[in-house]
Amino acid sequence: MSVTTATTQDDLRRLNLARILRFVHVSGPVSRSDLVGATGMNRSTIGVLVNELAEAGLVAEVAGAAGGVGRPSLVAEPVPSGALVLACEVKVEATETALVGLGGTVFTRRTDTHAADGIDPAEAVEVIAQAAEALLGEATGTLVGLAVSIPGVIDPDDGQVLVAPNLGWRDVPLGTLLVDRMTVPGQRVPQIAVGNDADLGALAEHVRGSGRGVRSLIYLSGEVGIGGGIVLDGSLMTGLGGFGGEVGHMVVNPGGLLCRCGTRGCWETEIGRDAVLRAAGLSDEVGDVLQVVRAAESGNVKAREGLRHVGEWLGLGLGNLVNIFNPEVIVLGGHLRYLLPQVSEAVLGRVDQTLAAMRDDVQLVTPALEGDSTLLGAAERAFAPLLSDPLGVLQMTAAREAS
Ligand SMILES: [Zn+2]
Repeated sequence: MSVTTATTQDDLRRLNLARILRFVHVSGPVSRSDLVGATGMNRSTIGVLVNELAEAGLVAEVAGAAGGVGRPSLVAEPVPSGALVLACEVKVEATETALVGLGGTVFTRRTDTHAADGIDPAEAVEVIAQAAEALLGEATGTLVGLAVSIPGVIDPDDGQVLVAPNLGWRDVPLGTLLVDRMTVPGQRVPQIAVGNDADLGALAEHVRGSGRGVRSLIYLSGEVGIGGGIVLDGSLMTGLGGFGGEVGHMVVNPGGLLCRCGTRGCWETEIGRDAVLRAAGLSDEVGDVLQVVRAAESGNVKAREGLRHVGEWLGLGLGNLVNIFNPEVIVLGGHLRYLLPQVSEAVLGRVDQTLAAMRDDVQLVTPALEGDSTLLGAAERAFAPLLSDPLGVLQMTAAREAS
């Protein structure tokens, strides 16, 4: 005879509540039959757990469409205001902030443009704190998390930015600075996380975008620099210290330009924003990538030539990634999504040189979440604690607000 301890039962209940909430959060309204199919739990257990989540204000049960004879079945849907998160994306030129509800509903958002010489860590913390205050303003609901995306190498344990070459940051304790700034009387302080921009883009495209349902995916963020987030066997590849996937600093042209990381000929010096503008003969101070793409579309020879050149380098790096990782989907995010239609011939020419077994499987796509992959990935990261322990996180949040 086996004895089930209380701890085991508590663990099981927490795990099952988490499975149901995650499914509803990602899939939207689902019937009890869908939940039975997705979780393997029986109908009555699901009924009990959905009721608990409903009492906590996280899901609502509504009558679904009537099908055939009998009563219409109940449908569980996420309550967007039941749990809120703040998502921030710090880029070289601006910080984007959004208030996002359970189920991925974006309530409000704002853009804070940076000064021409970029932003230093203290300013970034201030911008984030003020954006948080403004977006939370009249919002009702429980704030359960804040996550910030940085284009750099992050220690996931404490949110330390080890290096963010294009922001000019090195060894910045961003996680600690945010906790210190946001711990003020009367302010609701959520759990705070800091993540790499491309990892968060990969997360969002895997959960809600072009890579939904696939087992392996590479997301490339094209901003001033180039970042990579790699999902293998359904999980984000982190490497030993959580720093894996820095494909922008893969050396592709040893005789090329000096990168901001200090090495010569990194992939981002050939396909990053400045490289696209340079190849098209535009100054990196006045131009943007979309301008180059529009010029090429309207027949500008210099712009077309420039994009063809960038396409060759893009294809060369992608070919390497295909050979190494054998991904199902590669999502070209940030400015790379504008390039794909113009450069697909050059890119596919290079990718065709990869091993046949690999190239036949891979799809090159643009992000379903368009320019918001990273921002929405930050929202997913901020929801992660709630989605692992729904009632525990709500209790912890209530205790913090009461203290
Ligand atoms: Zn580099």
